[in-house]
Amino acid sequence: MIQLDSEVQYIKGIGPKRAQGLLRLGIRNAGDLLTFFPSQYQDRTRIVPVSDAYRYEQVCICGRIGKAYERKLSMGLFILDIEIFDNSGMAYVRFFRKKNPYSKVDVFASIKKAFESGKTAYIFGDAKAEIGIRYVSVNDYEITASVDDIPLFFNKIIPVYPATEGLNQKVIREAVRNALDTAGNLYPDISGIIPEFEGVPKIKSFEAIRKIHYPLTLDDAENARRAFAAQEFFVLETALAISRNAIKKNPKKRHYEIKKSFLTPFRQNLKFEFTKAQKKAINDIFDDMQDVYPMNRMLMGDVGSGKTVVALSAVLLAAENGFQSMIAAPTEILAEQHFLTISNMLEGLDINIVLATSSTLKKKSEREKILADVHNGKTQIVIGTHALMEERVKFKNLALIVVDEQHRFGVMQKYAALGKADSPDILMMTATPIPRALAMTVYGEMDMTVINELPAGRIPIQTFFVSESYAYSKTVAELQKGGQAYIVYPLIDESDKIALKSATAEAGKLSQGVFKNYKVGLLHGKMNPSEKNDIMKKFKNKDFDVMISTTVIEVGIDVPNACVMIIQHADRFGLSALHQLRGRIGRGKKQSYCFLIGSAKSENAAKRLQIMTKTNNGFEIAEEDLQMRGPGEFMGTVQHGFPEFKAGDLVKDADIIGFSKDFARDLIDGDPLLQKTENSVLKMLINQRFSNKTKLINVG
Ligand code: ADP
Ligand code: MG
Repeated sequence: MIQLDSEVQYIKGIGPKRAQGLLRLGIRNAGDLLTFFPSQYQDRTRIVPVSDAYRYEQVCICGRIGKAYERKLSMGLFILDIEIFDNSGMAYVRFFRKKNPYSKVDVFASIKKAFESGKTAYIFGDAKAEIGIRYVSVNDYEITASVDDIPLFFNKIIPVYPATEGLNQKVIREAVRNALDTAGNLYPDISGIIPEFEGVPKIKSFEAIRKIHYPLTLDDAENARRAFAAQEFFVLETALAISRNAIKKNPKKRHYEIKKSFLTPFRQNLKFEFTKAQKKAINDIFDDMQDVYPMNRMLMGDVGSGKTVVALSAVLLAAENGFQSMIAAPTEILAEQHFLTISNMLEGLDINIVLATSSTLKKKSEREKILADVHNGKTQIVIGTHALMEERVKFKNLALIVVDEQHRFGVMQKYAALGKADSPDILMMTATPIPRALAMTVYGEMDMTVINELPAGRIPIQTFFVSESYAYSKTVAELQKGGQAYIVYPLIDESDKIALKSATAEAGKLSQGVFKNYKVGLLHGKMNPSEKNDIMKKFKNKDFDVMISTTVIEVGIDVPNACVMIIQHADRFGLSALHQLRGRIGRGKKQSYCFLIGSAKSENAAKRLQIMTKTNNGFEIAEEDLQMRGPGEFMGTVQHGFPEFKAGDLVKDADIIGFSKDFARDLIDGDPLLQKTENSVLKMLINQRFSNKTKLINVG
């Protein structure tokens, strides 16, 4: 008996060799085969009389098989013409085969055997007219014993699968058909527990799967796809709701009061007013912190939207109430920068801040003091890197964990942070905007606040796709006015393999050439953290005018005086990388310029560059990026381990995702461990798909 987890080689017509081919498509077992959905369809519902066959480009005909004629067309190319009769007349259908003219092998043997005179043939092919003859060049065929037999692959809409070498459509179609016939009705179904939702028909999973492969109409296929997608999204959103519950379920033992003893002087220290979006974010966060259950919130805001002061407000609320906070950043440079800006903003407040990175923890005497003060509670705010997650860093009463640029941390690191506190409030931050539907699948277990405006008075960056010499002359003009510039390269060293300009080589040339009257610095990923730090600090202090670097400056660096960014080989970068890089400028009072240099070799590259010159809005750019790359690849650059969907489409199914998320949370409120009988299939699916992916999701 074939089960869903039976290896495909045991399915009729497959065997070990074809199983290898299927494996290349990621198909291991019968269940995989069932959900290996077509990428498009071929409409074979219309079968035309053979006398009309030549009037169509692509055509389906059906008729009684007559005689076959074989001949050589040229050296090595042979044809076989077969007569097909119906009431309207006769048409020739033609097969082409290559053969060594001296070989005795009959390349048409299997076709001649199948096309037995008198039987019925269904043909799908291209109608051709050549001098002297008209014929249908065969793409696919099926033979039945008589006209009354119902064909499997004709008279209907036929699936077209993403094929792989060595496996043709016919083989895949037959394999899927056999899987449908033998194991289709074993597929787990949760349609019964998904409530009515407009635009999603209620169809059992087996029905939906069958209709996705063999729909009656194209609408039928789309409806079935949506129904199956709803099941997929619902499983994911329930898993996320469970993981959210794992954080949410333990009531906090602390109580927060907005005392303003730190918050007011902090706001007075700032030289600006919060934006509306920042105020809303702070409100959301304060509400969460005052709630009995821990906060689990994602703060998403474009580069430069001012997330730091929002996070700092939360940190100060904790500090006012006598609790410690941790701010984790992905790099030493960023942690140090946070430490400096935050220390500045908190000048005059009676509050202790420490920087805990592998550099500051290196010296024994320093380390012991830092660790002791964190442990005894004297230090209220600890800013650092991954080093914070280490075992030896112990807190007295850690209550708030802020993770900046959270996608640069692994699940386990985030997990380690949780272990340092009792039901901590968690605030994740990201400067990589992603479209709403994606956010709900990736961050579905978190509450979400989006900062959708930049501080007032920012002058929008102007971006141009220009020649190198033009970019340099504009840059020199800005340097003369006292500005600073970044020049970014995709590589560090000159490589023989790819002839790209590299940062190291160009730094030498440029500092002797166009920029010889200016100080030029070099920063790249192969430097050790303290070297990088040093260079970055020098740039910030204006010891350099021009910083030549690789993409290591990508995240979070804040040098308001830098007003030019030149991106070399810009066509090599993805949209979100370009946007992140550009976010390093436009932070001060000057007009900033971004110059993209490169040659757009593909249509996509040209489009990326065009989008960059058109908009500064990270959310718009993310939407475009998603459209161009598709969800899988897009997410790969934003987050690892993004779930794949068989039928679900993150662009078309945003409504289903939103609905699933709401409903999944309700369901988990009512049955937190999925113990009710009606939820048992759902529970099984979650365990199957997610239990090994993250420790946070575990319903046992
Ligand atoms: P990001 O969201 O990218 O982390 P930052 O928090 O680094 O952005 O803020 C970018 C810059 O904008 C900083 O120099 C910060 O002091 C400044 N800033 C933040 N909020 C405001 C505001 N409301 N008005 C003016 N400047 C602000
Ligand atoms: Mg930031």
